[in-house]
Amino acid sequence: MKEDILYHLKIINDRIETACKKAGRDPKEIRLLLATKTVSADRIRVALESGQTLIAENKVQELKEKYEELKNIPHENHFIGHLQTNKIKDILKYDVTCVQSVDRLDLAEKLHQRLLPESKTMDILIQVNTSQEESKFGIHPNAAIDLIRKIAEFNTLKIKGLMTIGLFSAETEKVRTCFKILKNLQQNIISEHIPNVEMKELSMGMSGDLETAIEEGSTIVRVGTAVFGARVYPDSYYWDEGKK
Ligand SMILES: *Cc1c(COP(=O)(O)O)cnc(C)c1O
Repeated sequence: MKEDILYHLKIINDRIETACKKAGRDPKEIRLLLATKTVSADRIRVALESGQTLIAENKVQELKEKYEELKNIPHENHFIGHLQTNKIKDILKYDVTCVQSVDRLDLAEKLHQRLLPESKTMDILIQVNTSQEESKFGIHPNAAIDLIRKIAEFNTLKIKGLMTIGLFSAETEKVRTCFKILKNLQQNIISEHIPNVEMKELSMGMSGDLETAIEEGSTIVRVGTAVFGARVYPDSYYWDEGKK
């Protein structure tokens, strides 16, 4: 088990490096985030002990279940799933430092209301639905700037950038279009100079499309399957829960 994970991590790091070379980028500009849904804590531990520093769950329940076992190993927790407002208190309790999946005002508002009395802040990314598939979460690209302006008024929330899940397709150019939409949006937002908004991070690219994402400017690639193997649950279980 251990050798498998280490071997796959090496392959991923090689892929990142090769993609960077091709794109004329420095591999240090890209953070590898391990998407750990359905992965047991002991397997995550192997990755963390080998030097990985960033993991993310999609469900609060899983965050909670693995928390005790992992809390003694230095690492950072992001959250990348659909977040229900009644679970926000757990996000704070289990030391999540960045919610990458903020896609609506009421979620941002409730996060702010929780953080304010505790004098805490939280990094967030705005999740954008660049593939415009009905089933996926995320704000429509055309509505994103308006949402960001509103969220920027909550001073406990630090908007660091954008996140997207690209189209699932074997056609690279269609996938690339999604990443270009996110990059363009980032540039538009930067040119608006909205106070309290930083647009450094572009969280895009997964096991199947990280090379394309890096070519288009990704700063965080989120990898699950390519490190930990295939999952039993289909991704729809995590991505469009309650949307059908
Ligand atoms: C599962 C997941 C990933 C990783 O997907 P893989 O194809 O397994 O690499 C990335 N981002 C999000 C939001 C996910 O839910």
